[in-house]
Amino acid sequence: MKILFILSGLIALGLSARWNWWRWPKKGVAILMYHKIGLPPPNSQLSNLWVSQKKFVGQLRYLKEHNIPVITFADYYQMLQEKKVPEKAAIITFDDGYQDNYTEAFPLLKKYGFKAMFFLVSDTIGIINKWHNLATESQQQMLSLEQIKEMQESGMEFGSHTLSHLNLQELSIKNAASQISKSKIALEKALGKPVDIFAYPYGAGAYNPAVKQLVRPAGYKLAVGIKQAINRIGREDYFALKRITVRGDENLFDFYLQITRGKNRL
Ligand SMILES: [Zn+2]
Repeated sequence: MKILFILSGLIALGLSARWNWWRWPKKGVAILMYHKIGLPPPNSQLSNLWVSQKKFVGQLRYLKEHNIPVITFADYYQMLQEKKVPEKAAIITFDDGYQDNYTEAFPLLKKYGFKAMFFLVSDTIGIINKWHNLATESQQQMLSLEQIKEMQESGMEFGSHTLSHLNLQELSIKNAASQISKSKIALEKALGKPVDIFAYPYGAGAYNPAVKQLVRPAGYKLAVGIKQAINRIGREDYFALKRITVRGDENLFDFYLQITRGKNRL
């Protein structure tokens, strides 16, 4: 009996250490960050950036069944202007613009009636990405302009993730400014629509005032970083909005904690 008691105590302790279930749920907008949907190539050392189709379906179903409103950035910006941000909402984002976003994610988003934001690297549209270190991840085919246009027609949003996915903190201010503003101009020309939202590659620059202050003058309305949390109402940083990384090795309980607490683990 005593042993059982100690054992259950240890299990509870173990669970608390791994998961954040004991934290109070937080109100605000959870911006989910995905990269690739599908199974990682066998040599991938970045396999957590791949979320399987099965898990992605489970997550979309979770949002639907729990009536969590999935809003667009256009909605969110309007809500921020009017100070009418709902207590609970989610935004789905994809970084980089991989072709699997079209082949795997797009049909599922349509099926569940959700819109998502795709952050594109303007110089790599229609070709393979060049920034992967081949020792850790093979290069991937990126979305073509034709695919992007089809997605745009069904209400998907597109933002800028720079010209070529460099770390903005490692560039001169002049080059960083050009990565930020020229990608906006190129995407607007290609898409025929304003590109209002920016995502910093690697989150670099979102927490560096010299880089961050380049984003608004380039004409963007909002920008996202990679700090893990829910954007709490009235405490948003418009040019470094927080996001929640959805990792390939996480289960639905992790997802629930991420959506409600902003973090699943300690
Ligand atoms: Zn990226």
